[in-house]
Order: sequence, then structure tokens, then C-alpha cells
Amino acid sequence: MIPIAKPLLGEAEAEAARAAVLSGWVSQGPQVAAFEADFAAFVGAPHACAVSNCTTALHLALMGMGVGSGDEVITVSHSFIAGANAIRQCGAVPVFVDIEPGGYNIDPDRVTEAITSRTRAILCVHQIGMPCDLTALLLIARTHGLALIEDAACAVGSEIRMRGEWQRIGRAHGDVVCFSFHPRKVITTGEGGMLTTRDATLDARFRLWRQHGMSVSDTQRHAAAQVVFEDYPVPGYNYRMTDIQAAVGRVQLTRLPDIVARRRAIADRYRTVLQAIDGITLPTEPAWARSNWQSFAIALDPAIDQRALMQVLLDAGVATRRGIMCMHLEQALHDVPRRHPLSRSETARDYSVLLPLFAQMTDAEVDTVADVLVTALRGLAGRTAIRPQPLSRAS
Ligand SMILES: *Cc1c(COP(=O)(O)O)cnc(C)c1O
Repeated sequence: MIPIAKPLLGEAEAEAARAAVLSGWVSQGPQVAAFEADFAAFVGAPHACAVSNCTTALHLALMGMGVGSGDEVITVSHSFIAGANAIRQCGAVPVFVDIEPGGYNIDPDRVTEAITSRTRAILCVHQIGMPCDLTALLLIARTHGLALIEDAACAVGSEIRMRGEWQRIGRAHGDVVCFSFHPRKVITTGEGGMLTTRDATLDARFRLWRQHGMSVSDTQRHAAAQVVFEDYPVPGYNYRMTDIQAAVGRVQLTRLPDIVARRRAIADRYRTVLQAIDGITLPTEPAWARSNWQSFAIALDPAIDQRALMQVLLDAGVATRRGIMCMHLEQALHDVPRRHPLSRSETARDYSVLLPLFAQMTDAEVDTVADVLVTALRGLAGRTAIRPQPLSRAS
């Protein structure tokens, strides 16, 4: 069986976790601080703040940009549901816009059309690791006085060419960038998240909020020679990462350049072995982007039945996933008003399939997936696809 993904964890991570346990300091402490410093240096951001996962990172990012009750945040429906959940947690309204033609990222033209007097922020997603058009989005955000928050849950190690040089996602091109270290992403700490920003005041606020709004951190109090009484100037949360997780994260980060290089080589191989195959369109990378290929999504011709194709692949030992979800089609978000067309998002969900891609995958496994896929496509050609009906929605 070839799985869809597999975290790359080894003895070094196990040893780092062991050392953290034996140090006697297991909650947020010196390893978290060191992971933050390593991560900030890696992406080229002045500040990085570790949290419990990317969903809590998104919540703090939105709060940090002043998103509150009744505000609107322009984002995509075509993404993991955490984005809209975090917006709603702030009392704000997600305004869904469609994705770009021929890709899976937010369409900047649709963003401009969706701006109203209540719009406070844009939450863009570097979907499945592919950088969004940040140049266009930053221009829109600046022109209209909006915050730009980047959901980079999947995009650690991806790069974008801006102002004539390659820069890593997370440098904080937008106001805040949010990362995930869930095992389905490119590096993992089991659960974990990171916020990067250029703004020291914002970073200080994230640190306060993640630790119950408490004025003094555990490490500061532990190191103090004088008795310290903490106080609680603002309401807060417990969004902390543990030192065990951070210790693992530091090792993962050292592996990241190799992991991304291998993932890019696998994506290249897929593109070589699957070129000019009837029934599918391969993903493309803009000249200004370098994806970490967190997922490799092929688009299906309308005649190909997505579920049937995935079943044939599963029967042959190849795990796949359907295209990224559409939040507006989920019951949990049924009361979010639908204002803008989302047909490309729906097509992307129902007419694309994610193929296995992980750093340990061998070239032979890539070729097996390609062979199985080509055989499956031939077998299915000519069969009439049965399409799911989108839920009918009141606007
Ligand atoms: C995985 C993911 C999240 C949520 O990350 P967690 O760390 O699991 O909270 C948010 N946004 C996107 C785009 C994701 O892929």
C-alpha cells in the first residue's frame, strides 16, 4: 500500500523528545524559545511565536489585526475549515471568494470585488504549499487599508520571488503568517503552530494571549532572583506548545531543506511520467513560486468519475484524497451568507485528486502510482461520470 503521506521522523526526533523529557522541563520553556529562534531565522522573519496548532495561530492573527464582531474577512471557501472557524471565533463573518483559474489559490480579482465598508482583513491560503500571488494581494491590502494574514499551514519551506529575490514564505510579507506542524503537513511536531510577523508589538501580544494573558512567562519567573508576582492585564487563552514538541520541531526544521528538495524532485518525476496522459491536467507552478508540494493535485477531465478513479487506485494499493474541501458546502457553515460565485472552488473539489507524495517515497513508488493511474484512467474512459449535486443554498 502506498499511503497519501507519511511524516519523516527518526532517531534524532526520538532522542530530542527524550532529552526534553529527561530535562524535567516539558511545558513551554527553553526548547520552545529555541524553536522560535530557529524558525524565525529559517523563514527570515524578525519574530516567531509558537502555539498549539495553526487554528489557534489563525485565531490570534485575526485578533491581532483587530478583527472582531461584525467585521468581514475575505477568504477562500476552497480550504480547510479551520480558516472560517477561526474567523467566526472572533465574531467576524467569512466572505468567501473563488479561486484562480487553473490553480487552487485565491483569485486576487475576486478579492477586490468583495471589499465592503465592513471588510477588515484578507486571509489568503498558500494552498497545498503553492504560494499565493502575494504581490497582487499586498497591493490590494495596502490600497484598501486592509490587513493581510497568510494561512501557510501547508507552506513551510515554499518560496516566492519578490523584489528580485527568492524569499521563504513566512518572512511575513503580509502582516502575520500562520504555520501548522500537524503530521499531514511537511514537517511535524504532532500538533503545533507558529506565527511570524515583522511587528514586535504584535508578537508581544501573541505571547501574552497564548499564555492566559499573563504578564510573566514561566521561564522568566523560574530564572528570577527576586520574587515575581505575575498579573493578567488582558483576557487570554492557553495556546501553548510544549518543550517536547518544540524539541522535535527543531530537528524537523534541520531536515526541512532536504525534505523540500526531495518533494520537488518527486513532483518533477510525476510531471515527467504523467505528461500528455489523456483525462488529467497536471499542476503548474508560476515562474515566481517554488512549492514544497505539500500535496500534488491532478485535475480530472469532466468525463472522469472522481470517486470511481479513487476506488480503482485504492484497490490497486494507492491511497489518494479528493480535492480540497469547499467550506460553503458544509453544514457547519450553512449560515454564512453566500455572496460571490464559487464554481471554480466546487469544480476543484469534485474534479481533482491528490496523489501520494512524501519524502521517503522512492522513484519506483512514483512510477507505480503513475502506472496504476494511467491504467485506471484507460479503464474509466468512456464511463459516464455521476456528479455530486452541490447543496442548494439560499443566498
Ligand atoms: C491543516 C490546515 C489548517 C489547520 O492546522 P492545524 O495545525 O491542524 O490547526 C489550517 N489551514 C490550512 C490551509 C490547513 O491545511
